[in-house]
Amino acid sequence: MVLIEVSNLKKSYGKLDVLKQITFDVNKNDVIAVIGPSGSGKSTMLRSLVHLEEIDGGSICISGDYLVKDGIYSKPQEIKRITSKMGMVFQHFNLFPHLTVKENLELAPKLVKKELNAEIERRSTELLKKIGLSDRASAYPAKLSGGQKQRVAIARALMMNPEILLFDEPTSALDPELTGEVLQVMKQLAEEHMTMIVVTHEMGFAKEVANRVIFMDNGEIIESGLPTEIFTNPKFERTKAFLNRSL
Ligand code: ADP
Ligand code: MG
Repeated sequence: MVLIEVSNLKKSYGKLDVLKQITFDVNKNDVIAVIGPSGSGKSTMLRSLVHLEEIDGGSICISGDYLVKDGIYSKPQEIKRITSKMGMVFQHFNLFPHLTVKENLELAPKLVKKELNAEIERRSTELLKKIGLSDRASAYPAKLSGGQKQRVAIARALMMNPEILLFDEPTSALDPELTGEVLQVMKQLAEEHMTMIVVTHEMGFAKEVANRVIFMDNGEIIESGLPTEIFTNPKFERTKAFLNRSL
């Protein structure tokens, strides 16, 4: 079952063509690792999916609903409904500094007011347990390590029950000794069959956890395939050169 269908996605900043006719599908339960050099358009691609950027052409369809079709966006209310199927985790966590861990988790669901507070609190308790931070519920983000902050950011995204989670270099801002605890949570989500797109420099994670790897360079998807194909038998020189620099 196809959850995300991206076709001929185009995006420019002025004269700079950042995404050139990007086309790919994401199936339910896929864990897709997106790799590629800095500036290749990975963040812009992810941000376009959740409407943090507007594209200039092409289509994005999320579990059967067009966010944008042939460059024409759906109505604002539809956009809100469609993008709410996805959760996003950023490199720099983006937690609310003036709210506790528990409040960070509960803010968005309480604003949406679709559920009773008791249900929201039940879920935040459960998710804090899942990420191993039950004892930090009333701590402020400033008191947490980077790895803890990123685990909270993941739990916060999960609070909205997304169908798809997007990660933009979730471990790139962390000290090396803290990346493992974040990758472990992501690995667990993958084992629970969460559909995920992960932009990452962690080639070990891409090899071990992803079922497909997309290599981007200069605004294009150069190749995509099984991790074993991409890592052991890349077809294109640009992929080989990138992997030689990264492994
Ligand atoms: P990546 O995540 O792969 O490093 P990005 O998607 O962040 O790449 O950026 C792709 C290109 O778009 C880069 O050349 C970057 O400088 C440019 N870019 C990104 N955001 C903007 C912006 N808001 N205005 C102008 N150029 C941008
Ligand atoms: Mg980026």
